[in-house]
Amino acid sequence: MHEMSITRSMLEITAAQMEANGIHSLKKLKVRIGELTAVEPDVLRFCFDIAIKGTPFEGAALEIEEVPLGGKCRICATEFKITAFENRCPKCGSNEIERTSGHELDIISLEGD
Ligand SMILES: [Zn+2]
Repeated sequence: MHEMSITRSMLEITAAQMEANGIHSLKKLKVRIGELTAVEPDVLRFCFDIAIKGTPFEGAALEIEEVPLGGKCRICATEFKITAFENRCPKCGSNEIERTSGHELDIISLEGD
């Protein structure tokens, strides 16, 4: 499962960050997931709950911020949200589009003691 391996690597990074910040018990983990990562937030939450059982992370909450696929026009610099049906600049109609967001898979913050 795609989401389970993502959860595992997220928890590895979390463990390293907790150690660096002197946090011993995790309360909340906040992550940012881009639309292009094909991660289902509900599935990720499910995997997270399974993965943290019996670990020092048990009981922690997962907060997910979803990032839509964003684009920027190379011609007129307009920034907009790309949809599956619209891959052109809404302002000048150019298809010289640079993808600016949607690949995110980041830990934004973690809370704990
Ligand atoms: Zn444009």
